[in-house]
Amino acid sequence: ALESSYADGQHASAQINVYERGEKIMDFSGKVAVVTGGANGIGRAVSLGFAHRGARVVVVDRDAEAGAAVAAEIGSAAIFHQADVTQSGDVLGYVEAALNAFGAIDCFHNNAGIEGRVAPTAEYDEAVFDAVMAVNVKGAFLGLRHVLPVMIRQQRGAVVNTASIAGLVGTAGMPAYVASKHAVIGMTKVAAGEVGPLGIRVNAICPGPITTRMVQDIAKQVSPNNPEGVEERYAALIPLRRYGTAEEVANLVLFLCSDLASNITGAQYVVDGGRTAAPVGVS
Ligand code: NAD
Repeated sequence: ALESSYADGQHASAQINVYERGEKIMDFSGKVAVVTGGANGIGRAVSLGFAHRGARVVVVDRDAEAGAAVAAEIGSAAIFHQADVTQSGDVLGYVEAALNAFGAIDCFHNNAGIEGRVAPTAEYDEAVFDAVMAVNVKGAFLGLRHVLPVMIRQQRGAVVNTASIAGLVGTAGMPAYVASKHAVIGMTKVAAGEVGPLGIRVNAICPGPITTRMVQDIAKQVSPNNPEGVEERYAALIPLRRYGTAEEVANLVLFLCSDLASNITGAQYVVDGGRTAAPVGVS
């Protein structure tokens, strides 16, 4: 039945029959991927994942040392471009660098983000609020603002914005971060509606706690004397009873950028070990 539904070839350009072309699924040969926040954590895993599956990769980050190391690990299929995503000149810079080096932007992982401080809203520092909004909201906006025109010219492309489960539910003590990630989901829906008619897809991912520097920093803020204890307590609220890895998030990003996700746009996907679905039980 599945084969016959694809047999007329009517939708062949948009759809991939995984049974016929199994070995080709999530193959990014000939594609160019740009990953912001690509030097560390989730962005690093996504950069390596794209390269492993045949893409040429532009690693974008303000952390020059770690960013250059990721590009070196990939080799000639990658370049590192240093940029602060809050500065439109820097964003134009990484777009130009991608086009100069590889001639196109097929996949864009709009991922750079910061967590800010952990403090209640009633005590939250205004400057920290502005800093979180600058990276997580304005940085994501500027990425869309300057990458979408390239994709519109190309008439193709896929974008994944990194939101968070903090874009779906509140977390006491993280007002700026939660607000910023709700905004990322909002921008995702708007952009998806705008560029959908051209076949360009825009989705958001919502990771739960993932074992990167960011989560370690939050744990140190919450419990400076026993950061490991924070992970233990929090993991107990997750159905899978553990934090996720950056590679597990990368798998979702690659899927959403691939042709397997050809009918998926304007959506937000949770990758959180079940944290938001069933945080507490009664038995
Ligand atoms: P990370 O700190 O390991 O990586 C973030 C990267 O972004 C770093 O390389 C950093 O240098 C870069 N960056 C920060 N500000 C920048 C700026 N202004 N310009 C350019 N680069 C900048 O953390 P991560 O966990 O890999 O975070 C990646 C994304 O995933 C973030 O958007 C974060 O909010 C999101 N996220 C993380 C988790 C988690 O549990 N780790 C959960 C949900 C969402």
